[in-house]
Amino acid sequence: MTEEERPGAGAWVPDRISLRSLEEAVQSCRGCELYRDATQAVMGEGRLGSALMLLGEQPGDQEDRQGHPFVGPAGGVLHDALADAGIDPDDVFTTNVVKHFRWSGTRGRRRIHQSPSRAHVAACGPWLEAELELVRPRGVVLLGGTAGKAVYGASFRVGAARGEPMTWPATSAARRPPDWVLATTHPSAVLRADDRAATYDGLVADLRVAAALLAGT
Ligand code: SF4
Repeated sequence: MTEEERPGAGAWVPDRISLRSLEEAVQSCRGCELYRDATQAVMGEGRLGSALMLLGEQPGDQEDRQGHPFVGPAGGVLHDALADAGIDPDDVFTTNVVKHFRWSGTRGRRRIHQSPSRAHVAACGPWLEAELELVRPRGVVLLGGTAGKAVYGASFRVGAARGEPMTWPATSAARRPPDWVLATTHPSAVLRADDRAATYDGLVADLRVAAALLAGT
């Protein structure tokens, strides 16, 4: 699919949005070519009205197979980090900027993750807009560089911005922007790090800032 043939997801987003209508409609999306090699689309999950949205990159191998976000190894790290930061998992909506798994090649039975391009992120944007409008979180935590660039543009660097509350930029489409945004590392970085303990501690420290913002302190 060439860029000209990548129409974006807008035509597939239903007029009347609910978690169920989004979940059903996204399975038909042909906004870019990533649907071709994926098992299924993976929409965000959580309670409507959750105070916090966690925004990652894309489903991974396990998420693609199971149809739920953050159920693979990185999801395990994220759930531990949320608990250590004192964030109630029942008050969190978890999603990704891209809804289909992009991969290239295999290692054993596991398919190798390939980051989505900026064009894929842009094509998939209408699903995230709908999720923001539906969930109306008070805060959004950006997990990693792809999520950060999706919201703030190509020059965004997590390392320079992490752990500091920011505002949702006027340049990013959202009819219901959150009150604040916080960037941190993607939990998969913990699994790849030479010093896993330090990388994990950094993730928890950033999430504690989010917990304090949610508590209004
Ligand atoms: S990645 Fe997003 S835009 Fe592309 S087909 Fe999947 S849901 Fe549609």
